[in-house]
Amino acid sequence: MISFTDQTGIEELRHRLRLDPQVIRRLRAVYLRSFSGLDAALGSLPEGVRCEVSAAVRFHELDWVETVHSDLDGASKVVFKTRDSRRIESVLLRIKTGRSSVCVSSQTGCVAGCLFCATGRVKEVRNLASSEILDQVIQAGEIFQSEGRRLRNVVFMGMGEPFHNTENLFAALEQLRSSGGFHLSDRHLLVSTLGIPEGIQRLSARFPRVGLAVSLHSVRQDIRDELMPFCRQWPLSELRAAILDRNTVHGQPVMIELLMLDGLTDTEADCAALKEWLTGLQVHINLIPYNPVAADHAVVAGRLLRESGEKRVGEFLAELKDAGFKATRRHSLGADILAACGQLAR
Ligand code: SAH
Ligand code: SF4
Repeated sequence: MISFTDQTGIEELRHRLRLDPQVIRRLRAVYLRSFSGLDAALGSLPEGVRCEVSAAVRFHELDWVETVHSDLDGASKVVFKTRDSRRIESVLLRIKTGRSSVCVSSQTGCVAGCLFCATGRVKEVRNLASSEILDQVIQAGEIFQSEGRRLRNVVFMGMGEPFHNTENLFAALEQLRSSGGFHLSDRHLLVSTLGIPEGIQRLSARFPRVGLAVSLHSVRQDIRDELMPFCRQWPLSELRAAILDRNTVHGQPVMIELLMLDGLTDTEADCAALKEWLTGLQVHINLIPYNPVAADHAVVAGRLLRESGEKRVGEFLAELKDAGFKATRRHSLGADILAACGQLAR
């Protein structure tokens, strides 16, 4: 069977069935842009070919398992099963009417093993195919559509490190922004990375206007090395150079993600070092409250990982703003359903 997002396969099918290109364009618009679902998509086809198309094309790559709604906020976690029986998760974020976002996974786990992240503890990791990444968007779009909402943003902040799956990430981005595909604006696509300099360079070269977020968390090399052991191979100076390069390619600020950990990333010294490190870069700082991960006994620099106090986060934020930085704090949604940042894993 041909996956619906396999453009070459669909083009071959179109030839075989002698369909006008316009018919496929309409089918894509109904299925990928309006998210009207399978019946409507098939209904857009000439009657004579509906059966053949539905027999030849696989419209969904992932089996939907369950949707868990948060009682705290507008978030839902959607659990999917891949065809090889891996479980992956996406998060639907209903921030305000008309501003719906989906947070998608790029891998079934993550080999980076950051100490604070549940995804990093999943043992068997494989890359998701672009069709599996895109089906998370299709199914999210259909859920939003059934609620009278519209999917606007796709953020790669789910399970996995996007730059460990760069080819499939790029293939997915290509279709998300294509006018013949999902037709989403580059400004509404965002890739979050643990900070792989080469990946940042490649994204900037190929998709200069797609948003970039970097999980910086600490500019103290020893603390960052402990929190994110996988990142030891790139000194912070190399990461800074990649962000600086990116700034020269495109004027949109890079989002800097900072996990607020009590006594580890939120001290006076951290704030001072951060301000110095970021001076000269065009960034938007996003302070992320730490979402506790079950059975968390990780110790860094002699301290257990604990979320920063509310007051401390406020002071940290104010200090950055006073220094002239654009900074906000993230209200991580879905904490009660383990859908918040870093909690995705089964
Ligand atoms: N691998 C990519 C994208 C997925 S993680 C990355 O690391 O950027 C998405 C974001 O969630 C990252 O900024 C990550 O640092 C953050 N995160 C991970 N675990 C978290 C936790 N327990 N609490 C809050 N944020 C967490
Ligand atoms: Fe992987 Fe990102 Fe989790 Fe680190 S924070 S383990 S890079 S998913």
